[in-house]
Amino acid sequence: MSTNHTKCLIIGSGPAGYTAAIYASRANLSPILYEGNQPGGQLTITTEVENFPGYPEGVTGPQLMTDLRKQAERFGAELRSGLVTTINFDVRPFELTIDNNDTITADTIIIATGASAKYLGLDDEKKYNGLGVSACATCDGFFYRKRTVAVVGGGDTACEEAIYLSNLAKKVYMIVRKDHLRASDVMQRRVFEKENIEVLFNSNTVGLFGEEFVEGAHLVEHKGTPQERFFDINIDGFFLAIGHKPNTDIFKGYITLDETGYIKLEGPTSATNIEGIFAAGDVADPRYRQAISAAGMGCRAALDAEKYIVEHF
Ligand code: NDP
Repeated sequence: MSTNHTKCLIIGSGPAGYTAAIYASRANLSPILYEGNQPGGQLTITTEVENFPGYPEGVTGPQLMTDLRKQAERFGAELRSGLVTTINFDVRPFELTIDNNDTITADTIIIATGASAKYLGLDDEKKYNGLGVSACATCDGFFYRKRTVAVVGGGDTACEEAIYLSNLAKKVYMIVRKDHLRASDVMQRRVFEKENIEVLFNSNTVGLFGEEFVEGAHLVEHKGTPQERFFDINIDGFFLAIGHKPNTDIFKGYITLDETGYIKLEGPTSATNIEGIFAAGDVADPRYRQAISAAGMGCRAALDAEKYIVEHF
């Protein structure tokens, strides 16, 4: 068991965490960053990233994260594998346990634990992950130009993704489990105005099929009722849009969260309700959820942490 202390502890290793580490190390805060369960974050499960500025030819998600990681290391950030398992934000310095074993104390903390897309829980989602299954239309939609895709979900995100995809793809199915969309009226209207979007109400996905890549989905309509009907649709891409879950469970009780679990920021900065604790990236951003916006938030959090250290230590 080892105990140690840092001026700046960064939790999470997506674009927000690594960017915070680059800025914090250049500001001489000697940050320690814990990479968590999925080093590199959500981008490590994406294929090609074409909208991150600075890569005119595009870059794979894993490569982008390797580059950001290297850049953070170059300035002296200490990157450690491990998961924060318990926290005590009532004491100063803040106290955290890593992997239920090591204790670390910190003068400032940057929470960059991200959010995880929700999946239906089908084995086929794993089988075809990156082979036609995606949870991000903005990331992967481009690869489905003039093809047929399906979006699962009936909320604002699903509508937004379906509309985005309808401008690229030949045809978009929306697979909606109820007999109505949950999305706002304006988003619903936009969906219904699109001639190449077909909404399949009362429908659930039971499986996917395809030789190597997704070629179609097995659906059931009116599941468990006398009208129950099984049918298939031919698709090239299967997009999940049934919500995201911010990774904030461990912070409950200390950090103020909104009703869906995202960290609430105080005013226009990265400050949380606890002085000295900042948040960046998807964990505090239900709206944009882009790698570049998360990186920008990481920069801001590191600058806020630096200012806090200068003013208080
Ligand atoms: P929501 O929770 O609003 O919607 C999730 C959708 O997925 C619902 O239609 C839900 O169905 C469906 N769903 C959930 N689980 C399953 C499942 N297991 N199988 C099939 N369908 C499922 O999430 P969103 O990501 O759409 O939105 C999150 C928040 O962000 C909302 O407040 C939304 O308004 C906001 N937002 C706003 C935008 C904007 O203003 N432009 C854009 C994007 C998001 P059911 O309805 O049956 O529960």
